[in-house]
Amino acid sequence: MVVIEELERAQDALARCLRECDRAVAFTGAGLSTESGIPDFRSSDSAWRRHPPVPFKDFLADADARALAWRRKFAMDDLTAGARPGRGPRALARLMADDMLGDIVTQNIDGLHESAGAPAERIVELHGNGGYAACLSCGARHELADLRPRFEATGLAPECACGGPVKSATIAFGQAMPQEALRRARRASLNCDLYLAIGSSLVVYPAAAFPVLAKENGAALVIVNREPTPLDAAADLVLRGDIGSIFAPFESCSLRASTS
Ligand code: NAD
Repeated sequence: MVVIEELERAQDALARCLRECDRAVAFTGAGLSTESGIPDFRSSDSAWRRHPPVPFKDFLADADARALAWRRKFAMDDLTAGARPGRGPRALARLMADDMLGDIVTQNIDGLHESAGAPAERIVELHGNGGYAACLSCGARHELADLRPRFEATGLAPECACGGPVKSATIAFGQAMPQEALRRARRASLNCDLYLAIGSSLVVYPAAAFPVLAKENGAALVIVNREPTPLDAAADLVLRGDIGSIFAPFESCSLRASTS
């Protein structure tokens, strides 16, 4: 494992990895969105500590727990309303447009990869999307803009026309992972020779198993994060620093042009 903390050396090393690989995949976490004002999960000052997610079994068991989950969901939405993609997601979208990056496997639920211009069909959302809701019984999609006024007027957790409980379209602690997203993430992780794990504490499983899978399958593993992670020792390269600063050059400068 090589650890680089100096910014220019980190940017040069990342450029070299991207130029030398045949197919790169990015695996992203909440650290990619902190520059946009969306708190990550584990930092000590995180707003998630004031509005902790309700575990799935509680959500299913109890109408009061469902109402609490919705109160916390809308409180977090208020904190992050209008967030725009930062330099990290913008650089990844640019690398995709330049054909220097294949897929993005993300744990994030904020939709910022798509807002930054990454094609939806090349983004795997492992933990769902917080931009809408779905009925847990029939799967019908529900829009937050419709649910919120009714919730605020009644204080009652929303229900679908079929009678099923409606939940944010994200994966709660204890909820089964979406099988199709897992399949796509596995395929992407096995079909690359460079795996960039960016802005994740790499402690949430099964998501964190994908960087390990890619590495075991022969890909070079590069971790970009400002804090150490449990997978650093397994990585080929660790770029320790601020994601926006490390990725800044890649959002405006075509790596492909500079290789020719
Ligand atoms: P995490 O909070 O566990 O880890 C984030 C990591 O990013 C930390 O190690 C932190 O030091 C690092 N980091 C934060 N800002 C950084 C920056 N600017 N530059 C470099 N590093 C930075 O996040 P996780 O591993 O993605 O796991 C959190 C879980 O919670 C996921 O399952 C995710 O679905 C959910 N979540 C999502 C969002 C989001 O969609 N933006 C936000 C919070 C939590």
